[in-house]
Amino acid sequence: MVRPNSRDAELRARAEAVIPGGMYGHQSARLLPDDYPQFFSRAKGARLWDADGSELLDFMCGYGPNLLGYGDEGVDGAFTRQLAIGDTMTGPTALVVELAEQMTAMVTHADWAIFCKNGADATGMALMVARAHTRRKTVILAKGAYHGSAPWCAMRPAGVTPQDKANQILCDYNDVGSLEAAVAAAGDDLAAVFAAPLKHDAFIDQAPPNPAYARRARELCDQTGALLVVDDVRAGLRVARDCSWSVVGVQPDLSSWGKCFANGHPISALLGSEKARRAAAAIFATGSFWYQAAPMAAALETLTRVRQTDYLEHIQALGATLREGLAERADAAGLALRQTGPVTMPLFLFEEDPDLRKGFFWSSEMLRRGIYVHPWHNMFLCAAMTEDDIALALDAAEAGFRALKANLGALQPVEKMAFLAA
Ligand code: PMP
Repeated sequence: MVRPNSRDAELRARAEAVIPGGMYGHQSARLLPDDYPQFFSRAKGARLWDADGSELLDFMCGYGPNLLGYGDEGVDGAFTRQLAIGDTMTGPTALVVELAEQMTAMVTHADWAIFCKNGADATGMALMVARAHTRRKTVILAKGAYHGSAPWCAMRPAGVTPQDKANQILCDYNDVGSLEAAVAAAGDDLAAVFAAPLKHDAFIDQAPPNPAYARRARELCDQTGALLVVDDVRAGLRVARDCSWSVVGVQPDLSSWGKCFANGHPISALLGSEKARRAAAAIFATGSFWYQAAPMAAALETLTRVRQTDYLEHIQALGATLREGLAERADAAGLALRQTGPVTMPLFLFEEDPDLRKGFFWSSEMLRRGIYVHPWHNMFLCAAMTEDDIALALDAAEAGFRALKANLGALQPVEKMAFLAA
């Protein structure tokens, strides 16, 4: 139940009147356990405070943007210094050139960069560049993969026309046969194969990319002249200091980036290879805030830290400790917990839990103990987390598993998740 008389409850009631549906997007708490806060007041390091002042160790990291820690002094210092000098101006500063140089030096396939604001800006531009490059229309997407909230890729039908989704063929991620059939169906009209770097769809187990699938996607694009796109908006910098498909040895033509490369400051990017440069110069792409200098200063500082620190190895080690510790504790409690995704982007689902009643109960138990986990979306680790934080999370998990085991017979159906079980 939403905590009665809380600041959160008061804000929710006011939001109902002035914000459609009370809140929009996946940042709405509507599909979370009822006791989850909708509103937050503050964040620092690996921690968040909700609107009522409760401190939470945050395994969502802002849905990804928090890579090094909230309020990182180095990154925020670079941001505020540039803000004082100039941010939104009549055009860009020298930082845009420096940032493009840094990103193309870091990402193997990339020879150029265009900076924008949201992940969806970058994925939409990838689509345009591929169509401009090939002068063809059809794109292949993996069923269930998320690429943003624009009409061409929106996950819900309201407000979307069949024309918005025209010229798309869906295939099954990691299924070579399904990809080949989609390419055959596209005939001579294939503009792009859009690939998620891994299967990180909501509500289901995550899966790493099958190297044979990634290699076949590359081959088919080479054979047909289509462009291969990897959407690294979510996984970027949590799998590799390069495009995430570098771990399977496959280089795309285009990759979309966002969320975390300025550690929470608003900037995203489309990176591309030489082959796609002319098309990228030909499309009309801009936004009032795309040239802001302060987020670029923040990005440059974040990328320096990405290069010079062991942030990735640190979150991989913490993630491995978390995974092992949870497996042991779930086992000891006699619960079957499936942990999938890279250890830096974990997702936890209980066996035989179609409406997530076990997941909701356990997540609420974690929340009560000051740990914010998500019952159906992949989570994220950040470099500000410590071994002590993981130990805290494991202690909470152990108590939560025990409580879940004791209450298994009495769990109530989760009505709002009934659509999953249907
Ligand atoms: N692609 C992927 C893989 C994403 O996870 C997201 C955001 N969750 C997007 C694109 C869209 O990014 P944004 O919400 O910043 O537009």
